[in-house]
Amino acid sequence: MTRKVLVLGEARDGALRNVSFEAVAAAKTVAEGGEVIGVLLGESVSALGSMLIQYGADRVVVVEDEKLKQYTSDGYAQALLAVIEKEQPEGLVLGHTALGKDISPRIAAKLSSGLISDATAVEVAGGNVVFTRPIYSGKAFERKIVTDGLIFATVRPNNIAPLEKDASRTGEVASLSVEIKDLRTIIKEVVRKATEGVDLSEAKVVVSGGRGVKSVEGFKPLKELADVLGGAVGASRGACDADYCDYSVQIGQTGKVVTPDLYIACGISGAIQHLAGMSNSKVIVAINKDPEANIFKVADYGIVGDLFEVVPMLTEEFKKLKV
Ligand code: FAD
Repeated sequence: MTRKVLVLGEARDGALRNVSFEAVAAAKTVAEGGEVIGVLLGESVSALGSMLIQYGADRVVVVEDEKLKQYTSDGYAQALLAVIEKEQPEGLVLGHTALGKDISPRIAAKLSSGLISDATAVEVAGGNVVFTRPIYSGKAFERKIVTDGLIFATVRPNNIAPLEKDASRTGEVASLSVEIKDLRTIIKEVVRKATEGVDLSEAKVVVSGGRGVKSVEGFKPLKELADVLGGAVGASRGACDADYCDYSVQIGQTGKVVTPDLYIACGISGAIQHLAGMSNSKVIVAINKDPEANIFKVADYGIVGDLFEVVPMLTEEFKKLKV
């Protein structure tokens, strides 16, 4: 059965986030050969429409309004619901990002629809579109199908491979005029945290530090390693609680969930709440002085040693490979 599927593209700093292309790939699976329609909401975002098409969308609907310049659940929900009303899709896919997590339950409630959140895979099996999603903080996975109504899902960043970009693909990028009623939330100013470098939730490599890093200074060698590998720095809650780094980089049950290609855990014991945020990483390397540390149970490669010796050695070796 073919379906018409909408997929919301997410723009940041004038570019689409990778998860938008991953969501298009998921939408293609849900569509089973039907039409995939990208949706872009913002103040001036139409130029990004062609990118969604090059990654697999058939056409794009754009809603532009100065009230959509900054994300508010109120404004975005009004715009997205208007597109849904017009297009009457059978499927809807968003990234499981801060934006996707915020707006999806609101949209589902408005449409009286179910929602499969945080899907890590989607496939067609036995005549159904089957989503896989983690449960019990990632200790198990469940497989879900929708038997009736809208197939609505959010997809976890870095899990579903985007389709290969095809620069020759073309399609319609059309504006839809929507009257955005007065917003109940007015964003007066956005103050960015002074974090530099690669976005943690989309990073292919994450170098994470725990209480074993011992100080703010102690994170410097981790940052150097992350820089050499083109990655981002993360942390355990232990390190954040000790004020070694900001909570914005905390990984785990009450922090960010990451699934990079490579996760290097330095001086992290491997508490279950930390594992909830990183255990689905493709390759896990653990560096810990304690050979009994729990982190070694999930690690693909374990290094028993002092992180202050091991991390600079790794950085030097990776530098040599880059030359
Ligand atoms: P520790 O457990 O103190 O481990 C430090 C490790 O460093 C030890 O294994 C030690 O052997 C090693 N070490 C020390 N020195 C060195 C050295 N020089 N070289 C190499 N290794 C060294 N935690 C999270 O991370 N994320 C969460 O989202 C989170 N949410 C939570 C939610 C709840 C409700 C609760 C109750 C807890 C949560 N926690 C979370 C906390 C979690 O239970 C642990 O307390 C925390 O993860 C421990 O952090 P840590 O591994 O850095 O510290």
